[in-house]
Amino acid sequence: MNNLYVVSTPIGNLEDITERALRILSEVDLILCEDTRVTKKLLAHYQIKTPTLSYHQHSKLKKIDYILKLLKKGKNLALVSDAGTPGISDPGNKLIQEVIRGLGEQVKVVPVPGPSAVTCVASISGFPMDKFIFLGFSPTKRKRKKFFEEIINSKYPVIFYESPYRILKTLNELKLKTKSYKLNPELVVCRELTKKFETIYRGRIEEVIKEIEKDEIKGEFVVIVEGEKSV
Ligand code: SAM
Repeated sequence: MNNLYVVSTPIGNLEDITERALRILSEVDLILCEDTRVTKKLLAHYQIKTPTLSYHQHSKLKKIDYILKLLKKGKNLALVSDAGTPGISDPGNKLIQEVIRGLGEQVKVVPVPGPSAVTCVASISGFPMDKFIFLGFSPTKRKRKKFFEEIINSKYPVIFYESPYRILKTLNELKLKTKSYKLNPELVVCRELTKKFETIYRGRIEEVIKEIEKDEIKGEFVVIVEGEKSV
């Protein structure tokens, strides 16, 4: 049996990668990358010379067929995303589903765990995290109402991803919605986790918004909102 390894890579700090991930990335026949330019920086840092191939959400069926053919031929492949764990708000699931459906007898899908922004923020939140909800990226337009309702109605902490362009818009909307329900939850907003400008904002929504406004709004954000029950 040959393997499709699903390999987690750093979300910023290049040291955040396991020895096993590095060994597998150097041993496989090919690395499937979301963006080969991003992954090549990681590979160059660790002097890994394995060839790469781009694979992303919009990859054509022809590309998936080609990947399946390689696996059928007995090649071992690794799948990585630009950062963190493939499949978590990142491409990967479609390919994995095809491999399980079409080559389940022949190819093993092997997880090689490591960092993810969602577990990273969960680990430092200070909220009770034995149960939590992860909503991925905040949606645009139509689905936003439901998104905020899910946060407001949740008994458990809610984690979501946000871009620098929308972080203040989303937090301001969250402030209005929670106010209308007479709630004022605690938040933890993390910017650029594990990177040079890592910043962790903690407090009630209004306080966090003020702090973020004081800084340069750049980089990647992940947000955790305290569950309604503990407010
Ligand atoms: N698969 C990745 C994971 O396991 O975390 C997530 C990929 S998703 C396309 C990218 C989003 O994750 C960013 O827009 C941001 O919300 C969050 N993210 C990724 N790296 C981060 C970091 N270093 N600090 C804060 N948020 C981060």
